[in-house]
Amino acid sequence: MTAVAGIDVGGTKCLGVLFDGGKVVNSVRRPTPHADDLVSTLAEIARELGDYKTLGIGVPGLITPQGVVRESPNLVGAIELDLRTQLEAELGHEIDVESDATCAAHAEWQFGAGRGATDMWMVTLGTGIGGGCVSGSKLQRGSHGFAGEIGHMVVESQGLPCPCGQRGCWERYASGSGLATIAGGERGEEVIARAVAGDKEALGYLDTFGRWVAVGLVNLTNITDPDVIVIGGGLAEAADSVMPFVKKWFKELLYAPDNREHPELRVAQLGERAGAIGAALLSAGV
Ligand SMILES: [Zn+2]
Repeated sequence: MTAVAGIDVGGTKCLGVLFDGGKVVNSVRRPTPHADDLVSTLAEIARELGDYKTLGIGVPGLITPQGVVRESPNLVGAIELDLRTQLEAELGHEIDVESDATCAAHAEWQFGAGRGATDMWMVTLGTGIGGGCVSGSKLQRGSHGFAGEIGHMVVESQGLPCPCGQRGCWERYASGSGLATIAGGERGEEVIARAVAGDKEALGYLDTFGRWVAVGLVNLTNITDPDVIVIGGGLAEAADSVMPFVKKWFKELLYAPDNREHPELRVAQLGERAGAIGAALLSAGV
């Protein structure tokens, strides 16, 4: 048996994949339950996926190397949840639990848009912003497993309040909800549809939005000097509309832009399955 399994726990859905020979060969999807029912739901998905050699789970939030969910923004009731121990007891075998953004970064690095990079950021622009980092050809988790919380990088110290308790976090401005805020409450999809149709006001919103995205990408570049930045998440699906603005502002805001190599800004290739694929790969040590 060579298949490996991974499950990505999202804010609204859990997506499981069986990955074999570089391809997804089966997938299972369930609504994300309350944290009290998470273990049984994940066990159900794992059984339905079929035979696998190893199983990994990707979870948003602060995940310790021991597989404890310390805090998770989208999982109601998940505080100090010992997910690995509980799910191992339910399934009767060892599993791996990782941060979902770390999983997605690993998958894009190994099988997607980040192939060949030695120093990479994966930036997931969705409802919030997730991050995963490869530095010196090594996936970075940080000393406690909490590396890459780039959505809460403060970009405006007296800025908009964030549910995390701080003000001016990057994800208040450069996520899907950030775009809606910039557009005065209009949904991001609608702004993008209007921009595609050439609407000047919507194009202006995308310009402002692109600047906010670039502010964060420039900060990451100034800190780790990556050769590739992979942009994923829901907004990557609108890359044709959004990326020209991001690229324009990136050049504008980068430190010493004329005297350095710029990272390549690439659009993610694995879509919503990146997290599950990465969880599967990491569980197998691939
Ligand atoms: Zn925050």
